[in-house]
Order: sequence, then C-alpha cells, then structure tokens
Amino acid sequence: MNLSVEIDPGSGFCNGVVRAVRQAEEYLSREKRLYSLGAIVHNSLELERLKAKGLEILELEDVRRLHNETLLIRAHGEPPATYALAEANGIRIIDCTCPVVLQLQQKVKEVYQGMKDSAGQVVIFGKRGHAEVNGLVGQTEGTALVIGSLEEVERIDPARLVALFSQTTKDPDEYAQICRAVEQRCNHTVVFDTICRQVASRHKSLVAFARTHSIILFVSGKESSNGKVLFDLCLSENPRSRWLEDASQIDPSWFLEGDTVGVCGATSTPKWQLEETAAKVSSLFC
Ligand code: SF4
Repeated sequence: MNLSVEIDPGSGFCNGVVRAVRQAEEYLSREKRLYSLGAIVHNSLELERLKAKGLEILELEDVRRLHNETLLIRAHGEPPATYALAEANGIRIIDCTCPVVLQLQQKVKEVYQGMKDSAGQVVIFGKRGHAEVNGLVGQTEGTALVIGSLEEVERIDPARLVALFSQTTKDPDEYAQICRAVEQRCNHTVVFDTICRQVASRHKSLVAFARTHSIILFVSGKESSNGKVLFDLCLSENPRSRWLEDASQIDPSWFLEGDTVGVCGATSTPKWQLEETAAKVSSLFC
C-alpha cells in the first residue's frame, strides 16, 4: 500500500513535563530511588521507562506514612497542605511545579485573599479532582468552586463577585464560552486568561495538522486530560482520527491506499513514542 507518514512537529512533551522528567532523571542518575507524588506524566510507557530507573509513584496516603525521604512534586503542582505534610514528615521536596502553574497558583491566592472581605468567589474551570485543580483550590483554603462544563455555570452564585480562572490545559474555545456564560449570569465577573500559551498555540497548529492529513493517529494515555481535549479537537477536524496508547494498538484495517498519515499526541506524549508509532505504520505498509 502506498501511503506517507508525518509526525506533528508541535507535538511532544510541554516544557513543564520536560523539566520534571529531566529533574527526575538527573536525580536517578545519582540515587537508586526517587518518590513522585502521582504520575509524573500521564503516559504509561514513559512511566515504565522511569520506573525502571528507580522512580516510585506514591499516592497522598502513602506520603502520610513517608518520613525523611525525597519526594518529587510534578508539573501539576500541589496545594499548600502537601508542603506542610512533607515538612512535618521531614521529607525533602524536589519541586517540579511548572512555572506557569506556579504563577497561576500565586494569582489565585492573591485574588482570593483580596476578595475575602467582599465575599467574592473564586471559580475554576477545570477537571474536578485533577492534581492541578486541587493545587489551585488549595490556594483558596478549599473554598473555590470548580466547574467542569457550561451546564455547571448555573452553580455560581450570581449575587457575588466572581474571579474566573481556568486549568492551564483546558480548551481555549470552551473556556471562551464559559467566560461569556459567566459574564452573562453574574453582574461582577473578573476573567483571568490562564490557559497555558503552549497549549493554546498547540490547539491552533493541531487543527491545521488534522485537516491536512487523511488519517490521524493520536497517541496519549487515556487518563491524560490534555489528551482528551486534543483528541476531541482532532476528531472534530478529521473524523478518521484514532486515539491509541501505544503503537501496538495500530490496526492495519484503518488505512486506505494513498493515505497521508498524521501522528500527533498530547503534552504528556514523549517524542520517542510518536517516532515509534510512525515507524510501525511505515513498517506495515512502506
Ligand atoms: S501544559 Fe503548560 S502549564 Fe501545564 S505543565 Fe505544560 S507547560 Fe506547564
């Protein structure tokens, strides 16, 4: 079969994930073991690679029992309570919170503190329970309202002053819709543009990439929230978009003679996995 394969030049780890993985690898080149609070990247193959070097993933419950060890905080960040727990347990932290997320945490905290007296409410558009969102809610002493969809805008009290933020990896168009709906519902709304620039620009370039290829292979862990957003974007532009977790899931029956195959992924998809996927397609047909 005659087809061509191209990897999206804009895909691969975002800066925040690159930084966290690099710091983990640096540490593991000197030490046998490193604990990480939660998966450092939502990608099972990349996690396996790091686990083979000595990375151990812990849940918060495990950290409560951990003492005098080193713990990596991933790019999503953590609420203040996690830092307090680490300090109480003598845990040394390697803080890989992405600088963009850190700035957002600081802004949420500052706005929350400033609105306390006027009974304002911090509203976060994001995935409930996601580590980054938990980290942001933690800046407001747990009081921020998290909304995950347009329908949930009605949970906001229209009588109160609203400060609206978004999780950094949300879809910019969806956030724009949410902002309009909140502004219509509430008399006093202050909107903060908090979607990561890297994510926003990736949306634009991915639209063009999905349109200009006849079939899209989108590679990402199914638990990646950015993966879900970007795959849905691909699917809306190209109905022949397939979401796979690794190259072994490629089905030869997906392809047609003359296909231009586009391989792309989420901010948590390593370049090597995109290359492996492209190579698998090439080995099947070229
Ligand atoms: S998506 Fe943006 S904000 Fe989130 S970790 Fe990556 S670089 Fe940082």
